[in-house]
Amino acid sequence: MSSQLGAEPALDDKIRCDACPVMCYIKPGMTGACDRYANRAGELVRVDPHVLLEQAISGGTELVPFTQPVDWDGTIVQTPERFVTAIGAGTTYPDYKPAPFIVSSEIDGVDMVTVVTEGIFSYCGVKVKIDTDRFVGPETSPVRVAGEQIGHVTTGEYGSQMLSLGGVHHLTGGSKKEGRVTCQALLDLSNGHAVEMSVDGGATLIVEAGKPPIVNGQTETRMRVGCGSATIGIFAKQWLGKADEVVVVDDHITGVLSEHQAGKMLDIPPTGIRLKGRRSTPGRYFQVAEPGTGWGGTNISDPLSILGDFDPKHAFPGLRLLMVSTTGEHAAYYELDEALRPVEMAMPEPLIEPVERIAENCEPALCTVLFIGGAGGSLRAGVTENPVRLTRSIKDALTNVTCGGAPVYLWPGGGITFMVDVTRLPDNAFGYVPTPALVAPLEFTLRLSDYAALGGHMDHVRPLASLTGGQSIPNRRDNPWPFARRIAGELSH
Ligand code: SF4
Repeated sequence: MSSQLGAEPALDDKIRCDACPVMCYIKPGMTGACDRYANRAGELVRVDPHVLLEQAISGGTELVPFTQPVDWDGTIVQTPERFVTAIGAGTTYPDYKPAPFIVSSEIDGVDMVTVVTEGIFSYCGVKVKIDTDRFVGPETSPVRVAGEQIGHVTTGEYGSQMLSLGGVHHLTGGSKKEGRVTCQALLDLSNGHAVEMSVDGGATLIVEAGKPPIVNGQTETRMRVGCGSATIGIFAKQWLGKADEVVVVDDHITGVLSEHQAGKMLDIPPTGIRLKGRRSTPGRYFQVAEPGTGWGGTNISDPLSILGDFDPKHAFPGLRLLMVSTTGEHAAYYELDEALRPVEMAMPEPLIEPVERIAENCEPALCTVLFIGGAGGSLRAGVTENPVRLTRSIKDALTNVTCGGAPVYLWPGGGITFMVDVTRLPDNAFGYVPTPALVAPLEFTLRLSDYAALGGHMDHVRPLASLTGGQSIPNRRDNPWPFARRIAGELSH
């Protein structure tokens, strides 16, 4: 599919690509440093097929042939079921030229335009959510690939560990090797490939978007059902009468049934249990142990190590004690002997199901990779001669932004900072250039009249049916159709 690829005159049959600052000279039959552009018989071409999305194709993922070229008489052609993405579209760096494709179509009687470009992102990053309560490393610890720091551990939230990777400091602010390794790691993560990394003072990790994390060689299967306190709130009733005391071991908040508000509501009497750690509110304890890869994300393998002596004022021989982790992965049952010491026993039949119920309520542990890029810079010039109007149009919800056809979250505040779940893009939608920077597809869809009003490159608008070549794939069912009626509806003004 032809776009407006930049190519300077031949030099010894070489072509100079000007699609990024590297400015490769490419010999005939060869590709440039990023493998995205090639010299094909003296013509500079984008190597990967340009991807179009088809709406509501039944079932499978089979590719369908793209439309044949047609003559265009200048009117907008009705092509509502096809959306042109920026994947494989190319770049018009440094954006003083219009974007590679500015494509019009008519949707429900509304003339729309989609401007597509493969943006070059030198400051981009990814946020990684790892569903595990196992300790991956101290907050702010460096995360490394091949010995190079590519990011750091950031604030863990709600039973998931979080990594912040990439960004300007690691892509361009460190050594050449650091930039190269960071770029490759971001590219692999964004394209859904597994990346092995290590955390200083913490674990080794294998992260792959949409797949379970592997922490220190162990594949995580379940995400905890909640903290220890939440687990007590959820399951207290199911333990009633089957145990006198339940302790839910958790690195964040360890819960104790008899002291917890849920236990009070069920009239569970005090048991004389004493926990190490810092008591927060009744039945909720912080810091019962160090973080680790043992019970409930702590470093303990023996749950009794977090208990002190039982208070004889309330404890009694034969007291039934269940200790369990927040995933149900670890569980043990004890009864107090005459000296009020817990003695481990086989799990009684009535407690087996409630323990299994915790595991059943855990969701599968996954890695989530969100790519974060900023479209508020120079690439806006490829869309409009007055870039700030594009920013305003997006803020005013007149322009819909997608990344390879996938919905994005746009951050409030300045610029056009967007975030996208990489699993919602077609395969291998991301590329790179050796500056180093990532290349990500970006599409802006808006009414043609709005595009004209914001100073768009109207003389470069062409109908979708005029495009030739390319590859059509089905739109993912969980992705909203970029031309959904609601868009046309919401955009009416
Ligand atoms: S690295 Fe790729 S995009 Fe950049 S100049 Fe070379 S071939 Fe073109």
